[in-house]
Amino acid sequence: MYGALITIVFVLAAIYLAYRRVPLLSYSLTFTLLLAAYMWLGNPGGIWQGFLWLLLALLWLLNVRPLRKAIVSRPFLRAYLRLLPTMSDTEREALQAGTVWWDGELFSGNPDWSKLRNNPPARLSVEEQAFIDGPCAELCRMLDDFDITHRRADLPPEVWSFLKSRGFFAMIIGKQYGGLAFSAYAHSCVLVKLASRSIVCASTVAVPNSLGPAELLNHYGTEEQKAHYLPRLARGEDIPCFALTGPRVGSDAAAIPDTGIVCRGQWHGAEVLGLRLNFSKRYITLAPIATVIGLAFRMYDPDRLLGGAADLGITCALIPRDTPGVEIGKRHFPLNIPFQNGPVRGHDVFVPLDNIIGGTKMIGQGWRMLVEQLSVGRCISLPSNATGGAKAATFATGAYARIRRQFNTPVGKFEGVEQVIARMVGLTYIMDAARSVTTAAIDAGARPAVPAAILKHHITEMGRRVANDAMDVQGGKGIMLGPRNYLGRGYQSIPIGITVEGANILTRNLIIFGQGAIRCHPYVLREMGAARNPDRERGVDEFDRALFGHIGFTISNAARSLVMALTLARFEKVPDAGPTRRYYQHIERFSASFAFATDVAMLTLGGYLKKKESISARLGDVLSSMYLASMVLKYHEDQGSPEADLPIVEWSCRELLYQAQEQLHGVLRNFPVRSVAWLMRLFIFPRGLTYFAAYDRLGRAVAGLAQTPGESRDRLAAGIDNERRNGNPLGQLQQALELSQNAESIEKKLRVSGVKMKLITALDLPGQIEQGLGLGIISASEAAALRDYDRLVMDIINVDEFDADELPARGAAPLVS
Ligand SMILES: Cc1cc2nc3c(=O)[nH]c(=O)nc-3n(C[C@H](O)[C@H](O)[C@H](O)COP(=O)(O)OP(=O)(O)OC[C@H]3O[C@@H](n4cnc5c(N)ncnc54)[C@H](O)[C@@H]3O)c2cc1C
Repeated sequence: MYGALITIVFVLAAIYLAYRRVPLLSYSLTFTLLLAAYMWLGNPGGIWQGFLWLLLALLWLLNVRPLRKAIVSRPFLRAYLRLLPTMSDTEREALQAGTVWWDGELFSGNPDWSKLRNNPPARLSVEEQAFIDGPCAELCRMLDDFDITHRRADLPPEVWSFLKSRGFFAMIIGKQYGGLAFSAYAHSCVLVKLASRSIVCASTVAVPNSLGPAELLNHYGTEEQKAHYLPRLARGEDIPCFALTGPRVGSDAAAIPDTGIVCRGQWHGAEVLGLRLNFSKRYITLAPIATVIGLAFRMYDPDRLLGGAADLGITCALIPRDTPGVEIGKRHFPLNIPFQNGPVRGHDVFVPLDNIIGGTKMIGQGWRMLVEQLSVGRCISLPSNATGGAKAATFATGAYARIRRQFNTPVGKFEGVEQVIARMVGLTYIMDAARSVTTAAIDAGARPAVPAAILKHHITEMGRRVANDAMDVQGGKGIMLGPRNYLGRGYQSIPIGITVEGANILTRNLIIFGQGAIRCHPYVLREMGAARNPDRERGVDEFDRALFGHIGFTISNAARSLVMALTLARFEKVPDAGPTRRYYQHIERFSASFAFATDVAMLTLGGYLKKKESISARLGDVLSSMYLASMVLKYHEDQGSPEADLPIVEWSCRELLYQAQEQLHGVLRNFPVRSVAWLMRLFIFPRGLTYFAAYDRLGRAVAGLAQTPGESRDRLAAGIDNERRNGNPLGQLQQALELSQNAESIEKKLRVSGVKMKLITALDLPGQIEQGLGLGIISASEAAALRDYDRLVMDIINVDEFDADELPARGAAPLVS
C-alpha cells in the first residue's frame, strides 16, 4: 500500500512537470532527484525500475546536443525529407500568407488569454456610425426586395446612383483617393444592415469592397495605377469585377487554363510589349456591368522577351471592358437572388504590361496576392452577410413565434419550437461574436488566415441552419413569396454564401486544419524551413532544436490533456471571468487535447493525413469550436458582461465545446491506426465523454429572451434594419411583440372568464372581443387595444396573392406596389 502510494506520487510529479512545460534540462534534473527519492522511499520492482533508469539515461542523453543531433536528428531529417511533399514557391508563399493570431494560441495547447482579452473591442468611429445611421439607413428605406428580386431582377437605377454617389463601393479605398477608408468592423456593420434588408444589395456592395481590383490595387498597385483607378472606383465611375473562376476550374483555382502570352502589340497607336490574353471565366459577380475586369491568368513568355523563364506563373491584370476581344454582357441567374453575375470571355485581347497589377515586379505573384487578401476579405463579406441575415431571421422569428397562436398558445411556447428558437438565438450570437471580434482584430493589425477560413465556413453554415429553422418556425408564412415575405429570399441565397470564396466542403476538409496545422503550429513550419535550408549543417542544427521542442511540446500536451481530462480542468488557472470562468477552463482542456491529437495524427499519418479529409475536417472542427467559443467569451466581455445575456453565452459555449468533444471523439473512432487511437483515448478521454450540451431548461430561457422585448433581444438584433416604418416587416413585428404582453393578458380574461365559462361562443378573436365587451369581461379600452393588436397581427400573418398572369416571368403585366 505504502509502495503503491509512493509510486503514484512519483508518477504524478513526473506528469506534473510535463504539464508545467518544464524545459528539458530542468526536467532532467528534477526527474533525477525525484527518481532518487523514489528509489530510496519506494524501492520499485525489477522491470519498472529498469524502465525508469532507461528513461533517465535517455533524458540525459537528449541533453547532449552533438550526440542527440548525430543519433536522432540527422537520421530523422533524412527520413523527414523523403516524406516532405514538394512545394512550389507559390504554394509556400500562399501557406505563409496572413498572420497567426488567436488560432496560434489554440494550437499551443496552453492559450495565453491576455492575447485575446487585450485585443481592443469592436467600436465604430463617429463618422462610421453616422454613415450607418445616415446613408446606410436611407438606402435600406429605398430597397424593395420583392421589386428587386422578382419584378426587375436588378437594383433600381436610383439605388445604383445612390450606391455610387455615397461611396458604398469605396469602403476600403483610402481618403486620399476619395474613398471612405472604413475599418473592417464598420465595413462589416454596413453589410450586416444591408443584408438584413436585401441580400441582392448586400452582395452588390460586398463585392467591390472584397477581393478585387480595389483591394489588389490598395496593396500591390503601382502609384500610377492607384492614382488612375482608385478615385474612379471610389466615385463609382468604374465598376470592378474580379475573374478567377472558369468552366474548367472552380475550387482548384490555381489550375487556371487561361493564358497571357508576352508579345508585342498595338496600344493606343504605339507598339508596346504586352500580353495576348485568352480566357473564359464564369460566375463573375458584377461582370455584366463591370467597366474594369481584374483578371487572373497564367503568364508565359515563350520567346523570352522579358529575359527570364517561359512559365511565369499566375498573374493578375486589369482589363478595361472596351478592350477589343473582350466579350461581356450576358447574365447568370443565381437562385432568384439576381445580383449582377455573368461570364467574361476574351479572345486574343492585347493589353500592355503596365496593366499587370503592381507592374512587372508582380509577374507570377498573383496567387500569393489573392491568398493574402483572402485572409482579410473572407472574415468580412460572407460572414457579415450571413450574420445580417441570421439576425433578421432570429429577430423576426422570436416575435412571430410570440404573436402566432395555435392551440390557444403562442407557438414559441411549445417545447419543440422553443428548442429551435434557442438554437437560432445561440447561433446568431456566435456568428455576431465571431465577426465582431475578428474584424476588431483585423483593425488592430491582424490578417488572420485560418480564422478567415473558420468564419467563412462556420458562419455561413450557421446561417444556413438559422435560415432553415426560421422557415420551420414560421411555416407557410416563410414559404409564400411576395412583398410581405421577409424570409424566402434569404433562405434561397444560402447556397451562394456556402459556395463562393472557397466552397464549404473544401474549406472544412482541406483548409481550416490543413493550413492551420502548418501555419499555426509552433514547430511544423520551423521544421519544414530547417529541412529545406540549403546550408546543410545549419539546417540540421535548426531542425534539431525544432524537433526536440516539438517532442517536448507533444509530451507536455499529452500530460496537460490527461490532467485536465481527469480533473475536468477545474484547477486550471484562467482569467477571473466570473460566471464564464469554467468555459475558459474547458477551452484550455480541449486545446491541450487537440494539440496532442494533432501531433499524433501528423506523426503517424504524415502526408496521408491530407488524403484523410474526414480526420482533418474533424480536427478543424475542434479548432473552430474552440475559436468560436473564445469569440463568444470575448464578445460578452467587450459588451460589459451583461448578466441578461448569460443564458445565451452559456448555451453557445456549451454547444460549441460539446461539438469539440464529439469531433475529437470522431477522430479517435475513425483514426486509421487503431492502436494509436486507443493510446490517444487514454490521454484525451480517460473518464469517457464528460461534456454535455445545453440542457432543455437553458434552451427555454434562451428562447424566452428572443420572444420578449428587452435588452438581450435588442443586443442580438443590433445593427439590423428594424426601423418602424411602412413596408418594413421587422419594425412591424417588433411593434406587435411589444403590444403582445398587454394583448395576451386581455385575451386571457376573454378565455378564462368567457370562453371557458361558455359565455363567449364566437370562434374568432374579433367576435370574442365584441362578446366580451358586451358581457363586461373586458373594458372598452381593452377591446380597442386588442382589436388594434389583432389587426396588426393579421396584417403580419397574411401572405400575398397574385393574379394568374402576374407570376410568369415573360409577358406579365407590371405589378403596382
Ligand atoms: C453566385 C456566385 C458568385 C461568384 N462570384 C465569383 C466572382 O466574382 N469571381 C470569381 O472568380 N468566382 C466567383 N464565383 C465562383 C466561386 O468561387 C466558385 O463557384 C467556387 O470556387 C466553387 O467552384 P465550383 O462552383 O466550380 O465547384 P467545384 O469546384 O466543382 O466543387 C464542387 C464541390 O466539390 C468540393 N470540392 C472540390 N475540391 C475538393 C477537395 N479537394 N476536397 C473536398 N471537397 C472538394 C467543393 O467544396 C464543392 O462542394 C462565384 C460563384 C457563385 C455561385
